[in-house]
Amino acid sequence: MKFKVLFLFLISFLFCETPNWDKERQKMIEKLKEYGIRNQKVLSVMSEIPRHKFIPEYYRSYAYEDTPLPIGFNQTISQPYIVALMTELLDIQPEDKILEIGTGSGYQAAVLGKLSKEVYTIEIIEELCSRSQKILKELQFNNIQVICGDGYEGYKEKAPYDKILLTAAPKELPEELLKQLKINGILVAPIGDVKEIQILYKFTKTKEGLKKESVIPVRFVPMIKKK
Ligand code: SAH
Repeated sequence: MKFKVLFLFLISFLFCETPNWDKERQKMIEKLKEYGIRNQKVLSVMSEIPRHKFIPEYYRSYAYEDTPLPIGFNQTISQPYIVALMTELLDIQPEDKILEIGTGSGYQAAVLGKLSKEVYTIEIIEELCSRSQKILKELQFNNIQVICGDGYEGYKEKAPYDKILLTAAPKELPEELLKQLKINGILVAPIGDVKEIQILYKFTKTKEGLKKESVIPVRFVPMIKKK
């Protein structure tokens, strides 16, 4: 009887071994490089941040696969390649003040936080907002402020921003967001109806006007418009 218990214990130990997160994370970084991510600072912070801690337990074992994952409330954490690409497009400098709309799990905010001076991130779903506040606090991201509320019109209180990132897609770019962007600032956003193809755009605000570059077709959850 004793042997049987010991045997079962050994078997469950062997098969329920916790994944080697560091190793999995390095594999993810190699994939990002293969897909064309070149910015060393972006690769370096993504190789440090424990993405699995931002993912609900049920899906945690897939944390370092290059795929979006459910985070509850019909929302998803973006695929690592898209996080890396959007961060690269923002060309973040250490003194930057950044606004993110759509905190979700808090992972993208963590990536932004490691590269910049301060991050303001807004989440409309109360539960996701408090969950990301908690995890970012636990991981000691003290330069990130998570605001619970509607970010469709940005966050005037701390404007203007050097960089703005939308991680939910509006049908059109809200005018108010451009007002909250500094001259020479960059705004990256997926735009378009969820039923159609959305495009990821990079906008650069110059003294002469707005420069708009389309990057790739994407699929994001819609940005909720309350007003
Ligand atoms: N950046 C996230 C993923 C974003 S998913 C991450 O790293 O996990 C998109 C998020 O945008 C969802 O959580 C959704 O609730 C939020 N959202 C949608 N419309 C919003 C709005 N108007 N204001 C703030 N958040 C919004």
